[in-house]
Amino acid sequence: MTEPLDFDTLAVRAGIHRSQFNEHSEALYLTSSFVFENAAQAAARFAQEEPGNIYSRFTNPTVTAFQERLAALEGGEACVATSSGMSAILATCMSHLKSGDHIVSSSAIFGATVQLFTNILSKFGLETTFVDGMAPQDWRGAMQPNTRLLYLETPSNPLTDIADIAALAAVAHEGGALLVVDNCFCTPALQLPLALGADLVIHSATKYLDGQGRVLGGAVVGPQKLTEPVLAFLRTAGPTLSPFNAWVLLKGLETLRIRMQAQSVNAAELARWLETQPAVTRVYYPGLPSHPQHALAKRQQSGFGAIVAFEVAGGREAAWRVVDATRLISITANLGDTKTTITHPATTTHGRISAEARARAGIGENLLRVAVGLEGVADIKADLARGLAV
Ligand SMILES: *Cc1c(COP(=O)(O)O)cnc(C)c1O
Repeated sequence: MTEPLDFDTLAVRAGIHRSQFNEHSEALYLTSSFVFENAAQAAARFAQEEPGNIYSRFTNPTVTAFQERLAALEGGEACVATSSGMSAILATCMSHLKSGDHIVSSSAIFGATVQLFTNILSKFGLETTFVDGMAPQDWRGAMQPNTRLLYLETPSNPLTDIADIAALAAVAHEGGALLVVDNCFCTPALQLPLALGADLVIHSATKYLDGQGRVLGGAVVGPQKLTEPVLAFLRTAGPTLSPFNAWVLLKGLETLRIRMQAQSVNAAELARWLETQPAVTRVYYPGLPSHPQHALAKRQQSGFGAIVAFEVAGGREAAWRVVDATRLISITANLGDTKTTITHPATTTHGRISAEARARAGIGENLLRVAVGLEGVADIKADLARGLAV
């Protein structure tokens, strides 16, 4: 293909390498290993003197196709696919950090990522300092001489705080650290962290990249010199993406931008409507002019995404009433699906962190998070209106 191609063209065309059968749709290579012509070829492949597949823990053509397509969409040189979003984060830390290193992380990140940093990596001599909020001076203040990695999600989960990626990349690089951005909420359809100075982008492909709630997957995208150690870790440790899941994700990428755009339109409409509801005391959505970082979101993102959080008058009881009155929306902590989902963060995704940490992060008992899907927005409103009626 001749560069540069449009995002929409790359989404359906990047990563295609047709086989001898010249198939039109991407082939699914459901095989664990590959056959060599002779002993010499086997030796050359293992010695990495000849390119080619050996074993699907190392590489697989369907997984490679997914990696090439996602790298093209993120504007990254290379991509390494993993079995899940969590294994993408684990592989990044295991390959770029060593005992005695220090991580600075946003406190407003996916719950399992907090646990990975605090309960697992800490056992291997990796210490993490969590920062509340996205102010660059707070991040600079949390850095130590041994800080090697800064980690964030933007917009944050669930309160949609926006981090200034370029400013935090400068902070990271001043201190000799990498900036790693989990781009799960925006996806490359709405935000390109590498172009803003991030060193690596993380994905839970399970969310919007699949977009239809079918498979688990993850990815790490960035310059080859930074993805190569991640691949080396995966080859040895094993949490690689299955070829079947890669094939599903390849097809997911083809509709990513139009899904993100349509779901963002729905989310914006829902957010505006929620702001007018008497039982709703606050709405968090980067697309609303009332959002404290609306201007930054507008500059940094090409759309505002499909996650809307809001607080209701009252406490847990009032919030649960909204959840329990739904008939259409799925009550599940998952997000990034064509089907709208609702969750009560304080007792689900953020239920295992201390009440004090939750309060510091601003996650109240009256907070709800909706990941808006592709249903008619009037139906989504009606489903929420029932529980909001006072
Ligand atoms: C779901 C999620 C993850 C973890 O991904 P899995 O595919 O479930 O392992 C990481 N980061 C964010 C922002 C997520 O939403």
